[in-house]
Amino acid sequence: MVLDPEQTIVALSSAPGPGARAIIRLSGTDARSVVERVCRCSLSSEQRHVFEAEISLPEATGCLPADLYIWPGPRSYTGQDVVEIHTLSCPPLVDLVVAKCLQAGARAAQPGEFTLHAFLAGKLDLTRAEAVQAVIDAGSRDELKQALGQLAGGVARPLHELREDLLNLLADVEAGLDFGEEDIRFVKQDEMLHRITKGLALITLLKKQLEQRSVGQRPFRVVMVGKPNAGKSSLFNALAGTAAAIVSAEPGTTRDYLVRRLEVQGIAIELVDTAGLRKGVNSIEETAQGLSREQAEKADLLLCCVETGTEAEMNLVTSPDSDAIATKCDLGKPGPGLPATSALTGEGLPELKALLAERARAHMRPALAPSLSRCRHHVERCLDCLRRAHAEVLEEDPPELVALELRSALEELGEMVGAVYTNDLLDRIFSRFCIGK
Ligand code: GDP
Repeated sequence: MVLDPEQTIVALSSAPGPGARAIIRLSGTDARSVVERVCRCSLSSEQRHVFEAEISLPEATGCLPADLYIWPGPRSYTGQDVVEIHTLSCPPLVDLVVAKCLQAGARAAQPGEFTLHAFLAGKLDLTRAEAVQAVIDAGSRDELKQALGQLAGGVARPLHELREDLLNLLADVEAGLDFGEEDIRFVKQDEMLHRITKGLALITLLKKQLEQRSVGQRPFRVVMVGKPNAGKSSLFNALAGTAAAIVSAEPGTTRDYLVRRLEVQGIAIELVDTAGLRKGVNSIEETAQGLSREQAEKADLLLCCVETGTEAEMNLVTSPDSDAIATKCDLGKPGPGLPATSALTGEGLPELKALLAERARAHMRPALAPSLSRCRHHVERCLDCLRRAHAEVLEEDPPELVALELRSALEELGEMVGAVYTNDLLDRIFSRFCIGK
């Protein structure tokens, strides 16, 4: 249930537990007066300001020193008056200070309620509000970068622009409806097609990003393929820095597949070494070959290892996402255009790692926070509406039908950015937050 945003809320917003500094945050019309009562001081400034204060805690230490940071609304995170009490992070003392704020008239904040207030005050749209939690949850540098991109408006901005454009287009189409008899049109067919196509392109891109997002949650999967004896296992060991894969001069030694995780330039990469691609000569090997193909199908990138001096068997691989490299380059010069590597001497390995990181980065871009998956069905429906609108304009169908589709597309966009929302939706989104954010 969304609680009254007019009430002043309080919560510990720094990490709980002992530490150098605890931050107790308050937001609401009474934030300042609550803190004045707790600290027995006067916070008169209308400007952002820091005050030094002492909180009287006779039940504990006596006096607890604190810094009070004031952000008068509306120029604050939540759009309301915000006060933060920065003091020593000693859990029993922090509990006492929070209890004093509650006694002085504040209410305990719900999870994500500060960000919810920011959303309700129009400071953030839903995509950016969700990015706040994604920043907090980020488990790697890359995830943090993705979340920060979304927080900075990477998704919100183009969606708002599209909404504006479609609203204007709808207004033009609807204005024409009033003059139906005279057949007056405020926007030409070409221009309508152009504007709807622009919308289609943007939503198609968003759909792709949402699909890629699920890839962003797991490491980038690089599957090594190539002829038996091409030097895959040796390269796998050299890249992974272990001797996990058995290396042998006998073709077909890697019977199934091996997986190792590497981190290159802060990006998690899963390296998979498979049995060489060739016709199975016995049943175990046929199983291994089957497993290789299965792995190849799950790959984000196929790394085709071609032994220097032999023909590339690129036609065995049916994926657009593949890179070929030459192996065993200490034995000779590789064919033109193939990056040279040698597991024996280490030649070309740093360059190969950099290439993998570059491919992984390109694959994950651009960034969306996990919570944005709630937009998936809005994206699908918005695409359907725009496709139908496009077909109707092409067929010169009645403008009423085009207006209907544009209105439906706008409703879907509205739900994505939070211009249209229900309390249930807000509950679902903000309950995933932690308290104090
Ligand atoms: P796989 O079947 O593709 O996994 O190939 P392996 O890694 O098992 O290597 C096959 C043979 O090539 C082994 O005898 C390796 O010692 C040899 N080999 C692998 N990498 C290199 C290399 O960089 N230079 C040289 N000279 N020999 C290599």
